[in-house]
Amino acid sequence: MLEQGLLVVISGPSGAGKGTVIKEILDHNDDICLSVSCTTRPPRPGETDGVHYYFKTRQEFKSMLRNGEFLEFATVFDNYYGTPIFAVDEKRRQGKDVVLEIDVQGALEVRRKVADALLIFIMPPSMEELERRLTGRQTETEEQIKKRFTTAYYEMKFKNQYDYVVVNDTVERAAAEIVDIINKEHEMRRNK
Ligand code: 5GP
Repeated sequence: MLEQGLLVVISGPSGAGKGTVIKEILDHNDDICLSVSCTTRPPRPGETDGVHYYFKTRQEFKSMLRNGEFLEFATVFDNYYGTPIFAVDEKRRQGKDVVLEIDVQGALEVRRKVADALLIFIMPPSMEELERRLTGRQTETEEQIKKRFTTAYYEMKFKNQYDYVVVNDTVERAAAEIVDIINKEHEMRRNK
């Protein structure tokens, strides 16, 4: 029988480099895929609907919520974000590991609902580096950067509730560590 794929939740403060690490993982591992979330936040330059997010109006999002279409959802920086259930289940049934890049609230909701989810927290190498990355992004206002920095401190407090904490010192090393964790987890589950 085909082994069901893992549900891998990856969180970490904005600016920790989650997106880059996840891209590195996906580029080199065909059996790992990313769940595309829905959000009411407007697209940033270079973001495409259906690739980075499904961009929804608040009304559309609320209607999906009422229909029970989300595995989890959260309000982050005044916008709604949610993981649509359908694609996640389908891909896992096909034997693919599905990565959710979601915030701490969403991760803890997944933990409650999916007992065997694997939770990984990505940390920046230091808070100075985090500040440098957030400031260097230049897609957000000063106000938004401040908010993300405060949220980063808050989110960091939850790292001990994750199964693994990975420091993003270099993208390649952090990605390799996560792939290693995933492979070991498969092995452990096979041997159970
Ligand atoms: P951004 O606006 O920078 O793309 O994402 C902001 C935050 O929302 C990040 O911490 C990201 O991980 C989180 N996020 C993205 N998609 C989801 C989702 O589907 N559910 C939850 N709970 N958080 C999400």
